Amino acid sequence: MKVYGRITVFPIMPARINRLYELAYNMWWSWHPEARTLYSSLDPELWEQIGHNPVHFLSKIQPQKLEQAAENTDYLALYDSVIRNFDHYIHPQSDETWFSITYPELKDKTIAYFSAEFGLHESLPIYSGGLGILSGDHCKEASDLGLPFVGVGFLYPQGYFNQRINHAGTQEASYDKLHFSEAPAVPAVGPDGNEVVISVELPGRRIYAKVWKLLVGRIPLYLMDTDIAPNAPADRELSARLYGGDHEMRISQEIVLGIGGVRALHALGISPATWHLNEGHAAFLSLERSRELVESGLSFNEAREVVKANSLFTTHTPVPAGNDAFSYDLIDKYFSSYWGKLGLTREQFLEVAHEENSWGPSYSMTILALKFTGQHNGVSALHGDVSRKMWQFLWPGLDKDEVPIGSITNGVHTFSWIAPELNELYGRYLDKDWGKHVDEQDFWDNNIQKIPDLELWKAHYQRKVALADYATKRLQKQHLRLGEGDRQLAEFEGMLNPNALILGFARRFATYKRATLIFRNMEKLRRIVNNPKRPVQIVFAGKAHPADEPGKALIEYIYKMSRSEEFKGKIIFLENYDIDMARYLVSGTDVWLNNPIRPYEASGTSGQKAALNGQPNCSILDGWWAEGFNGKNGWAIGEERDYHDQEVQAEDDSNSLYHILEDEIIPSFFDQDSEGVPHGWISYMKEAIRTCAPQFSMRRMIKDYTNKYYVPEIRAKIRVEENHYGANVGLQPGKNVSNRDLPPKMELYVTDARWSTSVYGWKQSMCMPGWCCEADQLPTRRSLC
Ligand SMILES: *Cc1c(COP(=O)(O)O)cnc(C)c1O
Repeated sequence: MKVYGRITVFPIMPARINRLYELAYNMWWSWHPEARTLYSSLDPELWEQIGHNPVHFLSKIQPQKLEQAAENTDYLALYDSVIRNFDHYIHPQSDETWFSITYPELKDKTIAYFSAEFGLHESLPIYSGGLGILSGDHCKEASDLGLPFVGVGFLYPQGYFNQRINHAGTQEASYDKLHFSEAPAVPAVGPDGNEVVISVELPGRRIYAKVWKLLVGRIPLYLMDTDIAPNAPADRELSARLYGGDHEMRISQEIVLGIGGVRALHALGISPATWHLNEGHAAFLSLERSRELVESGLSFNEAREVVKANSLFTTHTPVPAGNDAFSYDLIDKYFSSYWGKLGLTREQFLEVAHEENSWGPSYSMTILALKFTGQHNGVSALHGDVSRKMWQFLWPGLDKDEVPIGSITNGVHTFSWIAPELNELYGRYLDKDWGKHVDEQDFWDNNIQKIPDLELWKAHYQRKVALADYATKRLQKQHLRLGEGDRQLAEFEGMLNPNALILGFARRFATYKRATLIFRNMEKLRRIVNNPKRPVQIVFAGKAHPADEPGKALIEYIYKMSRSEEFKGKIIFLENYDIDMARYLVSGTDVWLNNPIRPYEASGTSGQKAALNGQPNCSILDGWWAEGFNGKNGWAIGEERDYHDQEVQAEDDSNSLYHILEDEIIPSFFDQDSEGVPHGWISYMKEAIRTCAPQFSMRRMIKDYTNKYYVPEIRAKIRVEENHYGANVGLQPGKNVSNRDLPPKMELYVTDARWSTSVYGWKQSMCMPGWCCEADQLPTRRSLC
């Protein structure tokens, strides 16, 4: 392939299979294994080498391989069936999707979803961890369910870093330049047919971002990129990396994401009916929407109420320090020309997001988001509760339980995470179309026992073998790079033993996740991993943020353990955790371990992926597991209580973990019949699948978001429009109003009366005799009228 600037030249494609290109440009292929096979089977080695990226793959493949495929009847049969499914998926009959069946009158509305990261596939490194995976899964399921949905984010040319562990166990970060010509994105065009470039003001300059369009099944994801010509070199680097750089870089990125994102949608001719802020990074979008309304004649308070009426904020951070906040110096520097456009003074502008931080007053993106959205939620029941407590001070006078922050527990996109062997097994024993019933609890209740123990065990065993092979390859690659010789590399052959009990621990190495908890009592750990009759291995993986020194120290500790004589082959660390590795781990280990400091894990999702594949969780009762655990589908570490001393908490939790491992998990796993099938253990596996597959699916989650938030907000927005909000909005600071206070037939459209203001709207024509209906006044019944 030759790249001329950003033009990719593909080899000539035989006409019979020329839709391979089109398919490569829709991420749909990533959750349809048969579509992946269409590429990988053409040249398995190349497919691995270029990291499973079909666009890049097609630019590299030898033309004769394509020609051979175009004449191979098996290949063509697969090709035709994939293309048929794809066409049917992309162009369903008008009433075939869940959304259009449930809400036919809303199908031409638009839900806009803003997120700083999207984890769609390993070949597109624009995610760092759970938040991104959640956004990626959200888009895929929104597509599956037919939601009128668009995503907005960044296309970071260097994305998140690649992790390498050196001899000393130190994490090193490297960045690959993503060539957009190799990404499945195309320049987005507006209604006028021109490519969309937007701009925002930064101190002393204007910066431009080009908008790219990435298709995720039926839905578009619009990703902004500042690496374009009119920008100064430093600005071109602005969107280079996810969570890279200092506070200035961060605020600039968030201005592009929030303010630029609103402008991008306008330029594309899209006017969303509702707006979803996934975490606070995009909160500036509410300011931009308010600015537009203020410029069209509303007061700031009115504008804010209108913005609130149709926006939702999902918070993910139960740790105060984890919330994004900027110093007043930075806000002065970046917003001094902006607050006037909102009709605000500096003090008023700062007040809307004011937070007293350890380092002084600051501008909190979470508070900004909370104050400019009408609906807010946490990501598990427990996290909802923690969030209500954390932000209660913003609603003076309300009890904690009245604080209007709800919760919807996270889930995972089933077909992105189910292993092929399990998918096939469910198809064979549950239902050929089991995917249609993913979120139906009854379906799983009624069918799970149809899977014979032996069959489930065989499928799981295949996954363990696949993980063992994968681990060997990864370890050899790493140590070859470190300059080790053949003899040392041979040590990694068969290092993971599919007959051992394999514990999996993989996630970001944030310190609250306590990756090293199991090392707290070395005596007990030795006992656990050193019984030759009952081999136990523990596989670790995960990246620490490059600036997180304590997190990196944990990696170093575990890496050194894994290289020590004593724990070699028992403790294993795999470098460069990503979506690809996650798929191996969540299906190829036996128990999924999670031991964060309760209640700091807002939800967690990797354990949901593991359960879907038949792995019981062994986890602290935090996040989703506090809801998921039922006593028979896994184990609960520690107690469901709050601690004030983290040392005491770690001591109690680690003792509980050792006890569960020694007295429950290990005996149950090794209690196997003459064919090596552990029936008691398999009952845990089935119970994990039965309880978690439906409840913690992305399908259940998206339906919840839609029913609880998106649809009511779209309806609120329709009401606002019908009521000509510009002409007739009334404000009544601090007063509780309800429909009872209004003339008959007059409807309150925003009832968030607990906030400092309440808004109600009506059409003048609705005013009843005997009532006074003046603009900016609560209608009153007066004998004079
Ligand atoms: C699922 C996933 C995560 C999130 O895992 P948690 O358990 O929520 O921490 C992070 N990274 C990758 C690559 C994942 O697949």
